[in-house]
Amino acid sequence: MMIVFWFLVGFVGIEVFATLIHKYLMHGPLWFIHESHHRPKGKFELNDLFAVLFAGIGIALLLAGSIGDFDYRFWIGLGISVYGGVYFYLHDVLVHRRTFAAKTPEIPYIKALRHAHRMHHKHVNKQPSESFGLLFFNWRYFSAVKKAR
Ligand SMILES: [Zn+2]
Ligand SMILES: [Zn+2]
Repeated sequence: MMIVFWFLVGFVGIEVFATLIHKYLMHGPLWFIHESHHRPKGKFELNDLFAVLFAGIGIALLLAGSIGDFDYRFWIGLGISVYGGVYFYLHDVLVHRRTFAAKTPEIPYIKALRHAHRMHHKHVNKQPSESFGLLFFNWRYFSAVKKAR
């Protein structure tokens, strides 16, 4: 059971961590990097460095944990890495359509998530903005999607 716990610490923890970094650093002093995601000019964005950084944290934990006889660090690292895959699918494939074409599943949660993140991108400047998380977002985006139907 502890395995599931540590996995969730990684999976949920990285969402919370990334949300705070997005809100206070990316839309703060690191805007000069993050700006490339709000005003994309090509296939790759300087902002992709953050994905590399987060992936690096996950990989470092996977390595450290596997050397340490698959202790909690491995499972946290796995949670972070699986989160990275989920994030890529939801954010880069479904919301921003950066890769292969994929149909958005008719799932209210995914539709609301897409809407919430699109509202984040309605803002092309550092401030003001809204909805900095991806998996966790305000309930009001659910009702906005429902009304649109
Ligand atoms: Zn942003
Ligand atoms: Zn985005």
